[in-house]
Amino acid sequence: MSIVIQKYGGTSVGSVERMRHVADLIIAERNAGHKVAVVVSAMAGATNQLVKSANQFSNAPGTPAYDFIVSTGENVSCGMLALALAEKGVKAMPLSGWQVPIHTNNLYSKARIEKIHTLYIQKLLSDGIVPVVAGFQGLSHDHTITTLGRGGSDTSAVALAAALNAGRCDIYTDIDGIYTADPRVVVSAQFIPTISYSTALQMASLGTKIIHPRAVKSGMEFKVPLRILSSFGSDKFTALTDDLTNSGVVGISHIGESVILETDLSGPQTTLLHTILENLNHHDIPYDIINHTSKHLQLSVELSDESATKNILTNLGVAFIPHHYAKVSAVGNITKQNIDSAINAFNAANIFIYSNVHDNRRLTLFVPLNLMEAAINILHDTFFESATKKD
Ligand code: ASP
Ligand code: MG
Repeated sequence: MSIVIQKYGGTSVGSVERMRHVADLIIAERNAGHKVAVVVSAMAGATNQLVKSANQFSNAPGTPAYDFIVSTGENVSCGMLALALAEKGVKAMPLSGWQVPIHTNNLYSKARIEKIHTLYIQKLLSDGIVPVVAGFQGLSHDHTITTLGRGGSDTSAVALAAALNAGRCDIYTDIDGIYTADPRVVVSAQFIPTISYSTALQMASLGTKIIHPRAVKSGMEFKVPLRILSSFGSDKFTALTDDLTNSGVVGISHIGESVILETDLSGPQTTLLHTILENLNHHDIPYDIINHTSKHLQLSVELSDESATKNILTNLGVAFIPHHYAKVSAVGNITKQNIDSAINAFNAANIFIYSNVHDNRRLTLFVPLNLMEAAINILHDTFFESATKKD
C-alpha cells in the first residue's frame, strides 16, 4: 500500500462545497488502495487578507509576528477539510506545520524546510486516519512559527512526499495541468501531458503560476513522482518526468510586471557584483542577470521583491535606476534560429524590446507592460502551430 500525498490549493478549498468535493477525491484515492496524506492551502483570498492585517503595522515584515498572522489561513482550511472528511465517515486529523513538526530556518516569510519528522503522520496513516496538514507553515529553531513564502504549500507537499517516501505527490489546482501558454491569454494554448522537471522548473521560475518553483526543485532533487491536476473535474493531468530528449520550445511563460534594475558598479568592482548577488541569495530573492560589464549590471527581480532589492542596493551604496516591464519567455531547447524568428516577429509587430536574455534553455524578452498579451501571443504563434488557433 503506497502513500499518496494530495495537495489542494486555495480555490480547491475555496468554499464548503469545494471542500466536500475534495473530501470525495481523497476518499476515492483511499478506495483505490492508497494511504493518503493531505496538504492544504488557505481558502482563496484568505492569505491576502491576513497580509493586509499584518501590514497595518509598518514594522511587520520580517518578524515572527508577521508569519504568526499570515500562517493562520491554513489552520482554518485544514480544520474545515478534516470536518468535511469526518462528515463523510472518514477519520481525519488536522495538523499545523508545527504539530508535524516541519522544521525550517528562521528566514521569516521565506523560510526553508530543513527537516520533517514523520513519526506522528506515519502513526496516523497506519491507524487509518487521514492526516490533513496545513501547508505553508513551519517551526524554526527558535520555536517560532514561520511561513514558506507565497505559494509555499506546494513545497510543503513535495517535501512531505519526499520525507514519507511517497509513491506519488498530486498537486490539485484549478487548471488541469501545464499548457504551452496561459490559456486565459492564448486561446490556442496546447495542453502538455508530460514535461521534464527541469523545463517545468524553468517555466515556473519564469512566471508560469501552476506550481511553485521550489516545489519542482525539491521534486527533482528527491525524485518525487509529481502530477498537476484539477480538482474541478478533468481526466487530464500533467506528469513531471526526467529530462526528455530534444523537446524544442515547450512553452511560453510570463511575468506581468517585472523590475529591471540598472546599477552602476563603478566602485570596488569585482567584489561588488559578488556582494550584491550574495545579499540577494541570502534574502532569498530570485534574480535574473540580463547582462553585466565591469561597470554596469542589469538584473530583473519580481515586483514583490522590488523594495527589498532596492534596500540591499542602497545599503551597499550602489546607485540604480528601476524600470518596469513585462517579462515574456520561450522555454525549452532554444536555438539561434528561434531567437532570430522571435525578434523578427516582434519587430514586424512593432513591439519594442527593452532588453533580452537567452541561453540554450530559454529566451526572455522585456516588453512594455501594455503590450504583454500581444507579446505572449506573438511568441506562442512563432513556436506553435497557429493552425489550431480559434479566432
Ligand atoms: N496560503 C499561502 C499563499 O496564499 C500559501 C499557498 O497558498 O501555497 O501564498
Ligand atoms: Mg498555489
